Amino acid sequence: MPKKRKKNRKAPSQHSARRSASAQQAGSPPAEEEPEWEGHLEADGEEFTPLLSLTTRYPTPAHAAKAAEAGDQVEWIGHIDGARMRHRVMLGAHGEAVVEQAVFLDGDLEKMVLCAAHQAGEEGQEQLRAGVLSALDALHTVIRPLTEAHVREFRPDYTAPVLESFSEAPEPHGAGAPVFGWRTFHHIEPDTTWDDTIDTATWNSSLALSRWLGDFDGVHDLEAPQLARVLRDRGVPVVLCAGCEKPITNRHPRWTGVWVTPDSESGPVCESPGRPLWGPGPELSLFSDADFTDPHRPEELPAR
Ligand SMILES: [Zn+2]
Repeated sequence: MPKKRKKNRKAPSQHSARRSASAQQAGSPPAEEEPEWEGHLEADGEEFTPLLSLTTRYPTPAHAAKAAEAGDQVEWIGHIDGARMRHRVMLGAHGEAVVEQAVFLDGDLEKMVLCAAHQAGEEGQEQLRAGVLSALDALHTVIRPLTEAHVREFRPDYTAPVLESFSEAPEPHGAGAPVFGWRTFHHIEPDTTWDDTIDTATWNSSLALSRWLGDFDGVHDLEAPQLARVLRDRGVPVVLCAGCEKPITNRHPRWTGVWVTPDSESGPVCESPGRPLWGPGPELSLFSDADFTDPHRPEELPAR
């Protein structure tokens, strides 16, 4: 659910850019550059504080690294008006602790990948994984200059990291599809602060994935038809409905053979834009034929 916001719709990305910019500059930032996290309220009205579950338990990443090395699970999962993100302390290849900063799929892309994962079936999972990772790499080359330019408005010398596309096994209580995202890693030194582990472009790429703030409106590569094309070009079996244009699957284990969207809001009901909501109704009975609505129907793709 969207968080409540006191301020304008553009605010969160500006906040994140400002925040990290001020956090990573030496000395005190000017007053107008102060972070404005008070603008973000959780659903329960609490003030939003990033990484709170980490910062209250571990004063610094070095403290968290010690705990991780001792076997603790050290992670924060949350979001600020964008896609889900995770900060977690992991042990690297040589046993050294690092902070992983990850952002996960959201919006149209998440729905397409979820439906495609069902379409791909057991036998197609490896091709799906390789295709989605390749598509994420391609998408990141589009997103990275945009998020970098945004931060450079505040920090002209800023360079955005090249994020790694990654996948994980399906979550225990998730949709049954692999989880995908982008991530970067932060080394932990004795004087590393939690602010040092928040890369702004990475955080703001969560807005590019969720899209609902409009910060990335007009970016052709993020529009649904283009996302579908990038995935299909890499063998990811994305199916869109010819009526409502939403991603659909007919291979969900409980809805086999019925085209459904991945959400229960419309499910098997196609809310195609051309369909009149209210037509003439029957006089003697309660239900009209329109109550059956229309099913989704897969769009026909040109032969390749
Ligand atoms: Zn439809």
